[in-house]
Amino acid sequence: MHVNNILIVNPKTPTTYWSFDGVFSYLGIKSAHSSLALLTLAALIPKGYFFRLIDMNTDDLTDHDIQWADAVLLTGWDIHREAMRNLIWRCNGYGKPVIVGGPFASTTPDAQELSSAAAVFVGEAIDRAAFESIFFDLESGGLKKRYQAAARPPLTASPIPLFELLNFKKFADVTMQVSCGCPFRCEFCAEWKIAGAPRYKDEGQFLAELDALYRTKYRGSVFIVDDNFIGNDRGALGMSKAIRDWQIRHGYPFSFYGQGDLRLSDNEQLARLMASAGFRAMFIGIESPSNATLKQMGKKQNVGIDVPAAFSRLRSWGIEPQCGLMVGNDDDDQASFAAMEELVRAASAPRSMLGICVAMEGTDLRRRIEREGRLLNGAVGDQFDCTNILPKHMSLSELVIGHRTLLEKIYSPGEYFARSLRSIKELRSVHNFPVGWREVRAAILSLLQQGVFAPYRGEYWKFLFKVLLDDPRKIGQMFAAAVVYAHFDGYTRELQSGLPALLARIKKIEIKNKPHLAVIDE
Ligand code: SF4
Repeated sequence: MHVNNILIVNPKTPTTYWSFDGVFSYLGIKSAHSSLALLTLAALIPKGYFFRLIDMNTDDLTDHDIQWADAVLLTGWDIHREAMRNLIWRCNGYGKPVIVGGPFASTTPDAQELSSAAAVFVGEAIDRAAFESIFFDLESGGLKKRYQAAARPPLTASPIPLFELLNFKKFADVTMQVSCGCPFRCEFCAEWKIAGAPRYKDEGQFLAELDALYRTKYRGSVFIVDDNFIGNDRGALGMSKAIRDWQIRHGYPFSFYGQGDLRLSDNEQLARLMASAGFRAMFIGIESPSNATLKQMGKKQNVGIDVPAAFSRLRSWGIEPQCGLMVGNDDDDQASFAAMEELVRAASAPRSMLGICVAMEGTDLRRRIEREGRLLNGAVGDQFDCTNILPKHMSLSELVIGHRTLLEKIYSPGEYFARSLRSIKELRSVHNFPVGWREVRAAILSLLQQGVFAPYRGEYWKFLFKVLLDDPRKIGQMFAAAVVYAHFDGYTRELQSGLPALLARIKKIEIKNKPHLAVIDE
């Protein structure tokens, strides 16, 4: 088979609290993040092939694109499983072989959604020998059903992503990677199973990536996608120093945010260094206010920590904590919703991402729930929709109603703006990042749309006045928090309006799982 043209596709991500669709019109963008996978795969394609990148979050995949291709590389996460199935069928309809890789294919290569793919690539494509063998086999007509990369290749093998291919106007930020892996073993998480212990790029290698991005003339926000940037303290410390020095030499063209664990709140040296390197926010998995639940899920680093005090410390060092929380854990009952509400209020992280515990493919949790006979038939499992786990101490409907009610409370304008106000007041400003037309446009649209037409305009104006009275230099943070609320408010309303349909779906799930209808109470 003669192979010339390679089409690389990233599926569209559905709307969730994470997608931030509600801010796109304010910023004039089409997606929150650029796709690092596409740019890295493009850099790994062997010489001599033409390639075309389609990120379906910003561009349509046309029939013409598929007809142009000799082979299609498809990546995606668990959340894209249905989209991946449909894309494989669509490309197969044109007789094009689809090779699927990425996190979902790596954790569940035998997933039914991928069964029509010509091949599945398991592991990291930076194992060049394994990745390039796909192209030899395509040419010789001997494509295998399964390709397996070497386990956990060093990140030093990762090429510089082809940033120059991005149209930066379409995204709020550019994604980059410093490390992968995590030293912890949370039961619900597949990341440590895929990536293992923390691996970091060389400092020089990452600085070369910053140089490459700088050369494109992009200036602005960078999302460091690492599972846990501080997975290895020494690695994070060395990298933060190197980034800080690079930022000083280049006049701070980028601001960063990333993901880490709660130990950062006990590591003043690292947190301050990260802030001085331009890190302005970190997402931290808090999960639950219950120590028993934290122990049960293997989140040992959070046990016994006073989260509100920890978050205040981080803000005083210049890092805004954002957090992930889950209801529907094994020990949770009806009283757990009130405890969670109290934690969210006390910790005052404006972006408190509250999901339902889901047994994701490839996790220890999934295996345990299957063993216990509690995996629900007919429930896909979506953290903002419905779990796929039979709860122990409440019915499925009680869990979903409790979750939605709590979301409505924590994303009510009063609660959200109160958290934002406290967060902004406490957050030490380390840098004044330059303000561009995008931010000015968002502020003007916010004043018009949220300040004049939004049903929560009273709370909005109170928030603005309080921030400006307290410290007018925080006007940038103020508008950022206000604009993001457009997404949280819109999405929370969307979830509420979909509740009757969801409850009807739950009835069907409960009927399918009849033997389990009763709540398990040990
Ligand atoms: S700390 Fe985060 S990345 Fe690490 S295992 Fe737990 S959930 Fe996964």
